[in-house]
Amino acid sequence: MKEINKLFIGGEWVESASGRMIEVVDPATEEVWARVPEGNGEDIDRAVKAARQAFDKGPWRRMSTYERAELMREMASLLKSNAEFLGEIESRETGKPVHRTKQDATGLHQWWHYYAGMADKIQGETIPFEDDKHIFTVREPLGVVGAITAWNAPLQLITMKLSMALAAGNTVVLKPAETTPVNAFEIAKLVEKVGFPPGVINVVPGYGESAGQRLTSHPDVDKISFTGDSATARKIMRAATGNLKKLNFELGGKSPQIIFPDANFDSAFESAVSHGFDYTGQACTLGSRVLVHEDLYDKFLERFKERAEQIKVGNPLEKVDIGPQANKQQLEKTLNYIKIGQKEGARLVAGGNRPSVDKGYYVNPTVFADVNPEMRIAQEEIFGPVVTVIPFSTEQEAIDIANNVSYGLSAGVWTKNLARGHRMAKELRAGTVWLNTFRYVRWVAPYGGYKASGWGRENGTEAMKEFTQVKTVMVDLNE
Ligand code: NDP
Repeated sequence: MKEINKLFIGGEWVESASGRMIEVVDPATEEVWARVPEGNGEDIDRAVKAARQAFDKGPWRRMSTYERAELMREMASLLKSNAEFLGEIESRETGKPVHRTKQDATGLHQWWHYYAGMADKIQGETIPFEDDKHIFTVREPLGVVGAITAWNAPLQLITMKLSMALAAGNTVVLKPAETTPVNAFEIAKLVEKVGFPPGVINVVPGYGESAGQRLTSHPDVDKISFTGDSATARKIMRAATGNLKKLNFELGGKSPQIIFPDANFDSAFESAVSHGFDYTGQACTLGSRVLVHEDLYDKFLERFKERAEQIKVGNPLEKVDIGPQANKQQLEKTLNYIKIGQKEGARLVAGGNRPSVDKGYYVNPTVFADVNPEMRIAQEEIFGPVVTVIPFSTEQEAIDIANNVSYGLSAGVWTKNLARGHRMAKELRAGTVWLNTFRYVRWVAPYGGYKASGWGRENGTEAMKEFTQVKTVMVDLNE
């Protein structure tokens, strides 16, 4: 049993106020495999105080951008050398296959390098106006950032939020999801090793309704950077009204992959399989709706059913394609949506059931065909290995179906017709449109949602706008 006894606040390991522990369940065995301290409102208050102090009075803001970047680069190399270990924990926490989590973890240092390089490139502008006035702007950090992360990709989300917030010169209180808090502590150990000034990064796991609520309503927190459910984002908006915090949200999705008859069929097909079921369907960008042109529909469906049935579901520590759902609540949610799909009259062509194992939150890859775009399984985020296949006949019909959901995170278009690809990119209401590729998310490219999929952008230089504010300076040049 992995046991972590203290919270990381103000550069020190401290007891939680309540002394209570969170038991972390392995979704593959349903057994408790780790225990971490439960932070509550009082612990959040202490962490915010430490972060405020570090921002207002500590060395962090006065450091040169070069020194700040040096620390971030050191963090990058520690993340790289610990990738295998961190990847193993991520697999234990989330149920994702360990060969995939280790591979994912090896890429995380890139975010830290990219944003370390950004620290000295955050610039304002000079504004020509009256001859006797000199007007210029500077971009300054916001202050204390509350980072709230979801359980589906803890390492990735923590990496993104920390590297962006710190490059801009903010300090951070991190509240990881209560079901996947372990790696947040491993990151805290690396933070300590690097020697970031005390209070720059604080880690307090706890329940959303207590620790999360306190962080989002705290008068000394300047911004919340949140990844999770749209319903939680609404609660955060209400909680943030006290001091009118800045907010950025990376929320759910119901992303379409649209396959035209002139597409490279094999590439489109492989993408529909891997980006439909990857991570047991628990990633916001996945292509959970596949829109297939009527000329290809029967051929696609026959092969898709066959491949869905071949996907190896099992213990994430073994060589499997997908593991279990990350927690019990998510398992129940997915099974409920499968029932809803059947009741709505969609045709179940694969899965719809659970593998016969004694333990673990497993669900078989599930395919619904002939799905009416108005059905709930085509409208709502399931976050399980359930793909809805929808036929279409014209370009306009594909656009209408793709856009007719509350989400707008991403969309994929498969066609060899360049003009059509660009027309589709223009019409699709999504934060990212991929043409002849899918789910290519990199540190350089802005990422975020339209509509109920979020506010603001992460990644790229755009992210710096989210983590800084503009100060205008006007100077009268007369004596
Ligand atoms: P949540 O939005 O509840 O969880 C995300 C984070 O928010 C967790 O750290 C959670 O803490 C915290 N939180 C919960 N309530 C509050 C609150 N009132 N104030 C502040 N923070 C809070 O997502 P769920 O875990 O409930 O997942 C539900 C659904 O959300 C999924 O089925 C999926 O559809 C979607 N989802 C989307 C993700 C994405 O990447 N877009 C990621 C995860 C989920 P705690 O863990 O203690 O609850």
